[in-house]
Order: sequence, then C-alpha cells, then structure tokens
Amino acid sequence: MVETKELTDTSVFGQIAEHQHEQVVFCHDHETGLRAIIGIHNTVLGPALGGTRMWHYASDAEALNDVLRLSRGMTYKAAISGLNLGGGKAVIIGDAKTMKTEALLRKFGRFVRNLNGKYITAEDVNMTTKDMEYIRQETKHVSGLPESMGGSGDPSPVTAYGTYMGMKAAAHKAFGSDSLAGKRVAVQGVGHVGTYLLEYLQKEGAKLVLTDYYEDRALEAAARFGATAVGLDEIYDQEVDIYSPCALGATLNDNTLSRLKCQVVAGCANNQLADENIHGPALVERGIIYAPDFLINAGGLINVASEVHGGNRQSVMTQTERIYDFTTQVLARAEQEGSHPQAAAIRQAEERIAAIGKVKSTF
Ligand code: NAD
Repeated sequence: MVETKELTDTSVFGQIAEHQHEQVVFCHDHETGLRAIIGIHNTVLGPALGGTRMWHYASDAEALNDVLRLSRGMTYKAAISGLNLGGGKAVIIGDAKTMKTEALLRKFGRFVRNLNGKYITAEDVNMTTKDMEYIRQETKHVSGLPESMGGSGDPSPVTAYGTYMGMKAAAHKAFGSDSLAGKRVAVQGVGHVGTYLLEYLQKEGAKLVLTDYYEDRALEAAARFGATAVGLDEIYDQEVDIYSPCALGATLNDNTLSRLKCQVVAGCANNQLADENIHGPALVERGIIYAPDFLINAGGLINVASEVHGGNRQSVMTQTERIYDFTTQVLARAEQEGSHPQAAAIRQAEERIAAIGKVKSTF
C-alpha cells in the first residue's frame, strides 16, 4: 500500500518542495484522535480533487510521503485527461477498524471545509459511502457520492471503459490493429474494475487468463467469462499478448519484468511501475508497449469531475473514450522523444498545466 522512495531532503519542507506541492495541511484533534494530512499538489487547472484514505502508517513520515506522492499523481491524471481540476489527496492516520468514528470523520470534514473548496475530497482505501456522508455533513466539498445522494455513483464501469480504450490504443501500436479478437489477455485482479473490463474483453473475443487474491472470486470470474484461472504468482509467466494489472501497484518491478512475455501492458491499477525511472525504460528495452496507468485509469476521475463541473453518464463516457486518442498521442510522443510512455505522459500533463497557467495570468 505504501511506497517509500529515497528522498534527497527528508525534512518536511524538503519533501514538500521536492515535487513543488502548493500546500500541505496537518490536521489534529485531541478529542477524536484525528491525525490527518491533506496534500494539495497543484491548483493551476482547478480545485485539487482526490480521495481520502485511512491507513495505519508505520510513521508520520510514511503518511506524508504517501499523501505527497498520491496528490501529485492526481494532478497529472486530471491534467492529461483535459479536466479543469488540480491534484490533491488526504490521508487519515490510524486503524480504520478501531479508530474510525462519526466524530473523527466530521472533524476531518471541518478541516476540508476550512479550505473553502481548494480541496475536494472523495472515497479512497478504507473509506465507505457512509463515511463520506459524515464528512458531507460538515462540508459540501465532497465528490464521488452515490447516485441516490445526487452524486455520480460507482466509478468502476467508467474506469474499466477508459482502461479498455487505452488497451486498444496500445494494441494498435503493438500489433497494427486495435482489435482484441483472439488476443490473449492476462487480467490480474478481478474486483470492481477488473470484472467490467473482462466484460468488454469477452465481448470482443479475447482469450482470457485471470487471477485474484480470492480464489473463489477468480474461479467465479473464470466461469462467467470463459477464462482460465491461474495462481497469484503464475500470472507473470503467461504466454499472452497483453498483461493487465488491475489489482495492486508496483507489480512492474525487478522481480516480474523479466518474466513477462507480453507485448502490451495496460491495466487500471495505480502506480504500476515500482520505480518509473527504472521500470519505464526497462519495458521499452524489452519491446513492451506500456499504456501509462494514470492516463488509462482516469475514467473514474472523469466521472467524479462531472459532479463538480456538470455532465451525465453519456457525456462522461464520451469524454472517457478520448483516452484512446490520448494514449495514441503519448505513445507516439515517447517514440519520437526516445523516452518511455510514463515520462511522455507526465511531460504532456506538465505542459498543459504550464500553458493554462499562462492563460490565467491575466484577469
Ligand atoms: P477492488 O478492490 O474491487 O479489486 C481489486 C482486486 O484485486 C480484488 O478482487 C482483490 O482480491 C484483488 N487482489 C488483491 N491483491 C491481489 C494480488 N496480489 N493478486 C491478484 N489479485 C489481487 O479494486 P478496484 O476498484 O477494482 O480497483 C483496482 C485497481 O484500480 C486499484 O489499484 C485501484 O487503485 C485502481 N483504480 C480504480 C479505480 C476505480 O474506479 N475503482 C479508478 C482508478 C484506479
């Protein structure tokens, strides 16, 4: 869950300055035991939007590192998707099973409220719809609520559609056609997004291999989609055309890369590259086309953005479909620049932020 990276300057401001975060808010409440950090990375394009996760971090430094890394990722995801949103994220430190109370969540909501809309929160790891309802009682700056509460509802089908679009664009680059008929695809993780993705893949006639941490879930999905279920570790050794990480981050690492036999990696999991500066170029060296994770899994954010800026499911799906074109552009750019797709995608996002920043420099 938590990735730590060697930092050149481990002081608090050193870390905040490293990736040029705008603002970091440390929230503390004695009564409820609340300890939270809100990371606002960049608000040039719009309010910083990103979920709140609750996690039993081993140290405050680990929590700070996580919130800084995650909020920066949200900036890039919004920017590359053409959204007018900035990047933010929040972490609440503590065991969600024992420490989460209505009072703690509402206190957190008050801290969000005090930011006057500069940060908009949403659900993330270890947070439930009920928790978001508590936060919503203290601040209106909450998104990703259920449709019954006027929100945009489950983002997973939209995320899956975007991932499917990105996968097809990457397939076009690798195989000269974006048809997935007959293509062998290994899906790692058949949870919310993975299952919707399998529907698209099955419809198109892909040959499916899958795995999941929960064996019964894997077997059930295999039966439903006519797929072959394999063991957790076996997924990396499959003779497939496409590997689709849809479970955890950092599955592209020193141990797995040499085992992959695919030509395309395209999945919805966040932070797939254990170290983007090492494993991004390593994929290029192995001749594997990588569809950047934060680009192709942006459907969920596009869905949530419709709550902030307006829109319906149809307009959200149309916008999500553009992930195909964005992926094509990023892959072409990486090739032209002799870099790797993740780096090209980050540059593309940074350029949009810089250009729009200049537009906003006059009244
Ligand atoms: P989920 O929890 O519903 O599904 C994840 C699945 O992966 C579960 O079935 C779990 O059992 C399985 N899993 C866990 N560890 C595994 C392992 N080692 N090997 C194989 N399977 C394993 O989550 P989700 O909402 O489907 O999201 C999947 C990924 O996509 C996550 O990384 C998430 O951060 C990312 N993501 C999701 C959305 C969204 O809209 N839900 C949006 C953007 C990114």
